[in-house]
Amino acid sequence: MTQPELSIVIPFLNEKRVLPLLRERFENIAKRSDFWELIFVSDGSTDGSTEYVEDWSRVNPAVKLVVLTRNFGHQYAVSAGLALTSGRYVGIMDADLQDEPEVLLDMYQLLRSDKLDVVYAVRATRPEGRLKRFCYYMFYRLYTFLADTPVQVDSGDFCVMTRRAVTLLLALPEKLRFVRGLRAWLGLPARPFPISRAARAAGQPQYSIWQLVKLASAGLTSFSTKPLRVGLICGALLCFLALLTAVVYAVIAVFTNTRIAAPGFSTLVILLLFSNGLVFLYLGILGEYIGQMFLEVKGRPPFIIERTINFEGQNSPDERN
Ligand code: UDP
Ligand code: MG
Repeated sequence: MTQPELSIVIPFLNEKRVLPLLRERFENIAKRSDFWELIFVSDGSTDGSTEYVEDWSRVNPAVKLVVLTRNFGHQYAVSAGLALTSGRYVGIMDADLQDEPEVLLDMYQLLRSDKLDVVYAVRATRPEGRLKRFCYYMFYRLYTFLADTPVQVDSGDFCVMTRRAVTLLLALPEKLRFVRGLRAWLGLPARPFPISRAARAAGQPQYSIWQLVKLASAGLTSFSTKPLRVGLICGALLCFLALLTAVVYAVIAVFTNTRIAAPGFSTLVILLLFSNGLVFLYLGILGEYIGQMFLEVKGRPPFIIERTINFEGQNSPDERN
């Protein structure tokens, strides 16, 4: 089997409305059939989109399908696709055409011409509403501030990588996959590629707010231990404040005749709530890390493949390990 030049990993969850548009876009880009392979990963789709790709794969051997046993989450679908790529270069894009195939090819050209290992799209503009844009903006700033290792700001998973980068990425042992973070962590020669992100071509976003929060939390905690130190700093500050207040009250009591008794009830309640709040917040942060350790220690595989189509002659990721 000849090695394709470019493998493109496309995870999807219930994207029946958008897949025909995606197909049209790819078919309009006339490329030799052995130039690329399109690796679609069905992340537990139940709306017939898996069957749609299956039909397409029957008429086009470059279209390959990986079906996961259930919904494992976008990052895991991407990882499953990456594990099955065989091209010299590898791209990742969403199925909803927010990541445009033509842009991916431009990134591929840049990667080749400048001998880089990673070219990643940076979202100069986004089509989402103001609140969501603000949240994304804040997340990436916080992520950059906290991260102990290099980060690629305002960049999602939309990128093109060399085989070397993909091999290194797949060799990382962690089960919790925050692909864009791991990609930056590798430290390989990388270049941002500014894009203005398109709107979703059809259908509804499949990422719920809760999933986005989980993704953000995974990103923040898997690349930084700084939040763990927040407790230490806050604890130390509060102790210092308590000590200072005690000294001040003692001095007032000894050197003046003032009696500080009943007034100050509200201050007390506020302080109590605040310090308890801090304790719980910190417990929550600890919990995030413990949860991650729990997941890693169990060592379950990050995804399970039910079946694949058009991968004849290639090893499955399980056989490779
Ligand atoms: N997706 C997935 N599994 C999920 C959620 C989303 O494979 O559990 C896919 C989805 O079909 C799309 C891509 O991931 O191709 C990005 O999802 P979405 O467009 O909902 O996210 P957004 O662009 O709003 O961040
Ligand atoms: Mg989208």
